[in-house]
Amino acid sequence: FWWFSHCEKRSYREPVTSLGKDWHRPCLKCEKCSKTLTAGGHAEHDGKPYCNHPCYAMILKTWGNTGKNQHIVNAY
Ligand SMILES: [Zn+2]
Ligand SMILES: [Zn+2]
Repeated sequence: FWWFSHCEKRSYREPVTSLGKDWHRPCLKCEKCSKTLTAGGHAEHDGKPYCNHPCYAMILKTWGNTGKNQHIVNAY
């Protein structure tokens, strides 16, 4: 058995290794849009898998905007 803590399921199937982590194959899908992801062909944020585009790109954009806004706020 393989034990997957994120979904608290046991699986007979070997985990998929991607981005240096072991993923449960049925769970290797984008957290945002539920698109099925392939090992090495996705991004990770906060321990959750995301598709590179558009979801991870969107996350990066959000961070960028937040950083900019904070910078402006701090500057005043
Ligand atoms: Zn799982
Ligand atoms: Zn996605």
